[in-house]
Amino acid sequence: MFIQKHGIFTWFLAIIAIIATTTSFASGQTQRFEFPKVGDYFVLRGDFHMHTINSDGSLTTRDRVEESKELGYDVIAITDHGRTRAYRVAKYVGDQLGLIVIRGHETGIKNGEHYVVLGVDSAYTPIDSHKWAKNRGEDTAFYQDAMKDVVNHGGLIIWAHPHTGLNECTIWGSEQGIIVGVELKNDVVGEGWNTEKSHGTSWYPFAVDWALKYNWAMLACSDAHGKRKKNPAVTLVFAKERSEEGVLEAIRSRRTVAWFEDMLWGPKELLSELMSSIVKATRTPDGKFVLKNLGPVDLDGEVQTNPKKVFYLKPYGETVVESADKAPTVRWLNVWYGLKENLRTSYTVQ
Ligand SMILES: [Zn+2]
Ligand SMILES: [Zn+2]
Repeated sequence: MFIQKHGIFTWFLAIIAIIATTTSFASGQTQRFEFPKVGDYFVLRGDFHMHTINSDGSLTTRDRVEESKELGYDVIAITDHGRTRAYRVAKYVGDQLGLIVIRGHETGIKNGEHYVVLGVDSAYTPIDSHKWAKNRGEDTAFYQDAMKDVVNHGGLIIWAHPHTGLNECTIWGSEQGIIVGVELKNDVVGEGWNTEKSHGTSWYPFAVDWALKYNWAMLACSDAHGKRKKNPAVTLVFAKERSEEGVLEAIRSRRTVAWFEDMLWGPKELLSELMSSIVKATRTPDGKFVLKNLGPVDLDGEVQTNPKKVFYLKPYGETVVESADKAPTVRWLNVWYGLKENLRTSYTVQ
């Protein structure tokens, strides 16, 4: 009796285990990350600002890289404060997992701006991190010399969580072509660090205008210290090749889109190319207008008919949109190229 009971119980446990395994396997499978190619470009999911135990983060380098892979990132930079130490192990683990790793660190002006340095060579050593002096002759490195040092070692600079407002150091770095991008969104600063609440989240909306004015790449970064939150910030990179060089070239050429809180932010032309590659339109024999999403982005659209019709197009899904219009125009409600400007796409479908 006992044996039989035990047998049933064992079977029960085994079945539970099978169900659990199957479910987690299935949910792992349904999480898709890939984008179709956009023209000649691979669309890579990047995060260019994060920490490990090598500075004030709580994850080891290996855990950070593995976590990044699980979250679907194609490329990361570990940017510990004043240290590039994580790079060697990150690159080793990244190579095994098929994740591109960029050498970087976080630094900045004494009591001021934070900058993320990316793509420096192995001979580069951070100097006076977070202590760059605004004036020559102070007891720490003059910011202009420190920025030039980054360039001399093949790197570039991104302005991290721009809480200080725009001033001379950033403008100088930008004019020299050293600062090439800005974070519109930083997951870690939350509602603090002079973020503003708009478009349903706390971020740096004014940085969109700066990016347009100064021709900076728009980025969204996790700045994770502990484990990343669900749906962390992503910077989409439009790279000619899947490599460190390819990613850095794309950032230098401002081919990035910030993706956070289900919104896409970027330059109009790039967003246009992206949307025409990931959304395909067809018409059914009975005249219905069908939109198909080939990418992992949740999309909210509004057909510009009278009256206007709002629809949701889920990742890798399709939706039937009622429109008798021969060339319907869709306004994408979560795709932005300016603070008040949604991208619009016209479809000519037979
Ligand atoms: Zn910072
Ligand atoms: Zn940071």
